Amino acid sequence: MGIGMMLGAHLGPRARSHIEHADVVFVAASDPVVELWLFGMRPDARSLQVFYAEGTSRRETYRRMTAAVLDAVRSGARVCAAFYGHPGVFATVPHDAIALARAEGFQACMEAAVSAEDCLYADLGLDPGRVGCQHFEASQFLFYSRCIDPSALLVLWQVGIVGDRSCRRFSTGAAHRRLLVERLGRDYPADHEVIVYEAATLPIAAPRIERLPLSALPGADLRMASTLVIPPARAMRPDPAVLARLAQLEAELR
Ligand code: SAM
Repeated sequence: MGIGMMLGAHLGPRARSHIEHADVVFVAASDPVVELWLFGMRPDARSLQVFYAEGTSRRETYRRMTAAVLDAVRSGARVCAAFYGHPGVFATVPHDAIALARAEGFQACMEAAVSAEDCLYADLGLDPGRVGCQHFEASQFLFYSRCIDPSALLVLWQVGIVGDRSCRRFSTGAAHRRLLVERLGRDYPADHEVIVYEAATLPIAAPRIERLPLSALPGADLRMASTLVIPPARAMRPDPAVLARLAQLEAELR
């Protein structure tokens, strides 16, 4: 289940009930204060943060987290694993744990929650329905040949570790970001305004909304919690072939 992004603000009643009534609770919070808040509800909760270690591949870390959750499930306990944000959005362990549990014959479900994406629409005043919205993990976007539409919004997740092929780093630097800028330069002008976004995780804090030209991205302060939002660079182009077909169809139906 997800606890949302902001301490106390996004926890739904069903999610709260899972935390209160499960035999075993695991927690993966974004912020030590958020983790403490959850320990306030369940002092016996087990933190998944202990599995993170500098130099260990994130794939291995996620495998160990999933194994810890599954071990508790196999012991016969009712298990709740609480992740920050939405548990199904850019998150490996919740999907893997549910799939494995089901494959072994256990009942498992995912409880939807508020993700960083939901917060960015609110904080930046953006509606994904207006011109469409594309989401990519930043490194995947760099490693693979992807077609993007610069007339829609583009959101790049995990931009703070863009280009990390080792899956072991907690940040990458200006050289990696220059590659990202180079790749984005195929579709956006160098002076195009991009937004570094960080949702507030505490009610007393404000979101970080930093607007800068694309060319300045290599020097920006990008962290684990940073998401890059790229507004459209051009207007949507009508498709004359489809519009002509539609006009023909409308005439036939008249
Ligand atoms: N499950 C999470 C969710 O629902 O938002 C996303 C987890 S994903 C492993 C981590 C990425 O989420 C970060 O690299 C960043 O792109 C985004 N993220 C995490 N915390 C954030 C925050 N406070 N504000 C904006 N984006 C955030």
